Amino acid sequence: MGWKTLDDMDLEGKSVLVRVDINVPVDEAGQVTDATRIERIVPTIQYITSHGGKPVLLAHFGRPKGKYVPELSLRAVVPALQEALGCDVTFVERPDRAAIDEAPNGTVFLAENTRFAPGETKNDPGMAQFLASLGDIYCNDAFSAAHRAHASTEGVAHLLPSCAGRLMQAELEALEKALGKPQKPVVAVVGGAKVSTKLDLLGNLVEKVQYLIIGGGMANTFLAARGIDVGKSLCEHDLTETAEQIRLKALDLGCEIVLPVDVVVAREFAANAPHEVVGAQDCPKDAMILDAGPQSVARIESLLAEAKTLIWNGPLGAFEIEPFDAATNAAAQAAAKYSRAGTLISVAGGGDTVAALNKADAAKDFTYISTAGGAFLEWMEGKTLPGVAALIGAR
Ligand code: ADP
Ligand code: MG
Repeated sequence: MGWKTLDDMDLEGKSVLVRVDINVPVDEAGQVTDATRIERIVPTIQYITSHGGKPVLLAHFGRPKGKYVPELSLRAVVPALQEALGCDVTFVERPDRAAIDEAPNGTVFLAENTRFAPGETKNDPGMAQFLASLGDIYCNDAFSAAHRAHASTEGVAHLLPSCAGRLMQAELEALEKALGKPQKPVVAVVGGAKVSTKLDLLGNLVEKVQYLIIGGGMANTFLAARGIDVGKSLCEHDLTETAEQIRLKALDLGCEIVLPVDVVVAREFAANAPHEVVGAQDCPKDAMILDAGPQSVARIESLLAEAKTLIWNGPLGAFEIEPFDAATNAAAQAAAKYSRAGTLISVAGGGDTVAALNKADAAKDFTYISTAGGAFLEWMEGKTLPGVAALIGAR
């Protein structure tokens, strides 16, 4: 795939700059409230220390905009990091090469918030040079920051022998399986609130998948584009023309767009609001579409039974409020079932999508769940991620 991994590197006695994403939530007392991101980098760091390297962790924390902000010091994450790693972590405000060289092999350093330096987000060559002077090897384990060309995510990768960390490697391998050279048929599920936030995604997916299942609020815009009255449903009427263009592009490329044939409607956006199932073209004027109906779900389940690869972003309905989570749950459970059975490679990402799949108790069976947010979406949109591009063909 063109990038090196830790297996390709000689780590013994080396200073290894590791770009990580430990931008974790903290409470008012400065305590880490969710250490998931910290736990996920442990395999990379332990691999480096067990092979005699000295990891020097580089990370951002919040948006300090190039100046020192005491509340955004990475010192706050040291206890959680030590607990996850089971070893001491040496925090350094300004990393110093001599101190790294003097430390015994296996010492873990954490450098202060990279975004305190104005050169970080500007990808300043001087900052990249300074970072490179601290290490022998650069390892990027922050896929979720790879859509940004910053000094610690992109610039420095050109100046040192560079590789992907374990988390980056897993993410790239999963995404490559889903969109790079996927086994066909490939089904994409795209849902969520609005077409406007996912135009690039839809445009790229119609080129790559055989079936594009559209659900959630954005399906309403596609229905409206066909002249269907969607009543009080969430709908971007100004984007019906765009929806029509996507439909025509799909038709041209042999991608079938699958819209709901029946829908669940209610008069208010609230849990347990009185609701009914109607045909997709029969939404009452005073009602709104909040979920896909049972016939639509049956079609989705049969597509998933045939599919070899699934890409999923966006819930099929207003999954936060019952019972309008039914279609999302049923589709998630079908995808989980076929993934477990080994007939489906399933990759999903997106803030609400991950929440919805967890709520359906399906996430654990998916082949890969990306927590990378913006970077995942940009990859799915077919964009080049600067942090990944810099690893390809690196020394
Ligand atoms: P993600 O964060 O996974 O990318 P989105 O943010 O695009 O997903 O979409 C999630 C939101 O879409 C949820 O808040 C959900 O309630 C909303 N949604 C889905 N279907 C509908 C619908 N029919 N009407 C209104 N909102 C909807
Ligand atoms: Mg969202």
